[in-house]
Amino acid sequence: MSLPDTLRPASLLVHGGTMRSQHGETAEALFLTSGYVYDSAEQAEGTFNGSVSHFQYSRFANPTVAMLEARLALLEGAEACRATATGMAAVHAALLSHLKTGDRVVASRALFGSCHWIVSTLLPRYGITGVFVDGGDLAAWQAALAEPTALVLLETPSNPMLDMVDLPAVAALAHKAGALVVVDNVFATPLLQQPLKLGADVVVYSATKHIDGQGRVLGGAVLGSRKWVEEVLQPFIRNTGPSISPFNAWVLLKGLETLALRVQASCRSARAVADFLATQKKVKRALYPMREDHPQHALAAAQMTDGGTVVTFELAGGKDAAFALMNAFRLIAVSNNLGDSKSLATHPATTTHMRIGAEERAKLGITDGVIRLSVGLEDPADLIEDLARGLAAIPG
Ligand SMILES: *Cc1c(COP(=O)(O)O)cnc(C)c1O
Repeated sequence: MSLPDTLRPASLLVHGGTMRSQHGETAEALFLTSGYVYDSAEQAEGTFNGSVSHFQYSRFANPTVAMLEARLALLEGAEACRATATGMAAVHAALLSHLKTGDRVVASRALFGSCHWIVSTLLPRYGITGVFVDGGDLAAWQAALAEPTALVLLETPSNPMLDMVDLPAVAALAHKAGALVVVDNVFATPLLQQPLKLGADVVVYSATKHIDGQGRVLGGAVLGSRKWVEEVLQPFIRNTGPSISPFNAWVLLKGLETLALRVQASCRSARAVADFLATQKKVKRALYPMREDHPQHALAAAQMTDGGTVVTFELAGGKDAAFALMNAFRLIAVSNNLGDSKSLATHPATTTHMRIGAEERAKLGITDGVIRLSVGLEDPADLIEDLARGLAAIPG
C-alpha cells in the first residue's frame, strides 16, 4: 500500500516515511542496531559496490533514521534529508561539507550563538571569511553580496528578537553572487514557513526544539536537493560521523506525529500572551511576528502562516525587573531551551547571549530588560496569570 501523494502536512506527520517490517507493526519500529548482516558474501560485496541496496552500517544509514528523514523530507517538500545527532551537527555538516579554504560566507548577525561562533571563529581557522550583516537591511545584503560568495547562512525569525529576513529577496541576491542559501528554520518550524519554496537551497533544523517538543532528546536535520545531499553532504556525514542514534530518531518520529497539534496550540497561546503583555505598563514592547505592531509584520505575514511559539518582550526596568519577574513565576520555568511543551523563560543577556558581548548585543537590540518566552502547551489563562504575578513582583 502506498500513501496518496496528495496528503496534507498533518497526515504526513503521522504516516510519512513509515516502513513496516515483516511483522506489520503499527508504530514505527526502533531498529537499535549499529550494523547489519548479509545473506551471503556476494550480498556483502554487492552492498559495498552499490549493485545491491542493503543497510550497511548505522553511521551511514539506519531504517529508523531513514523513516525520520523521509517524513521530514515529505513535510518540507525537499528531495532529500539527512538527520544528525544535534542541530549544531546539522549546521556544521551543511557548512563544512560545502566550503573550502578561500571561500566567503555572508550571514545574518542575529544567529543562534553556536552558529555565530562557527562563522566568526571556526571558519576563519580554515581560511574561510565570514561577513555579518543586519538581516533586515536589504541594502546591507546587496553590498555584502556584491562579490562572489560561496554560502549564505540566515535565521528568520531570529533568536531572540524575532527579526525577519526577506527570504526571496536575499536568496535572489545570494544566487547572483553564486552562493548556496542555508536557512536555519527552527523558530518557524517546518509548518509555518517553507524556505525551499521561498528561494533557499538548504534548510537546517535543531529537532531538539519543536520536533521533539517534549524536552527529551537532541537531534538535527539538513534538507535540500537530492544532488547536493548525495554528492556534497552525504560523503561528509558518512566519513565524519555526526549521526543520530536510532533511539533518538524514533523519539523524534513520535514527536512529529503531534507536531501540528502542538505548534498550532502554542501559536494560539503565544498570540494571547503577546496581546496581554502589550497592554502592561511595565512592558516597553512585546514582539510577536503576527501582531501588527511588529516592525516587520508585513514580511512575516508574507512568508509565514503563523507567528511561531516564541514571544520576546522588553521590560522598562532592565535586568532587575527581568530577574524579579522570572523569580516570581510559579508555572513558567527559567531555562535556556525553547520549543518545549513546558513554557520556558530566558534572559538572553545573561545566558544564551552572554558570550557575544555587550557591543554585539546592543547591535541586536538585546537589552538587559529583554525576556524570551517560549510558549508551551499550558492553558494560556494560566500563563497570563503567571506573567501577571511576575509583573506584580517588579518594584515600582
Ligand atoms: C537550538 C538551536 C540550534 C542548535 O541546536 P542543538 O540541537 O541544540 O544543537 C541551532 N539553531 C537554532 C535557531 C536553535 O534554536
